[in-house]
Amino acid sequence: MSPIRPENRGRYPGNWKTISAWIRNSRALGRCECEGECGTGHQGRCEARNGQSHPVTGSKVGLTVAHRDHEPENCDEANLFAACQRCHLAYDRDHHAQTAAQTRQALAAGGMEPLFEMGSAS
Ligand SMILES: [Zn+2]
Ligand SMILES: [Zn+2]
Repeated sequence: MSPIRPENRGRYPGNWKTISAWIRNSRALGRCECEGECGTGHQGRCEARNGQSHPVTGSKVGLTVAHRDHEPENCDEANLFAACQRCHLAYDRDHHAQTAAQTRQALAAGGMEPLFEMGSAS
């Protein structure tokens, strides 16, 4: 259900399912907790509710849990918020763009790609 990318799977704690369920069900009561952090422009708290039609997209909402600092290791409840797919994707989009270059470098360091732009300082 939650969009955990394969390369990040090992970064989540063993009790992530419990934490995630508590945030979504107990704290957020099945509602998206985004209050505009995602930047999609909704006024006040997002109206999306788990299992119901999304107020904007109309597709069924599967509530996820997002990390405010984008670090899966940081599962402090203050760092987590329940988010519908739309808010979660929008919230992470900028971050993904920022880290795309780092990801490519990491892949290159792992031998996946030749190192074109590194090492010129030597
Ligand atoms: Zn939302
Ligand atoms: Zn939002």
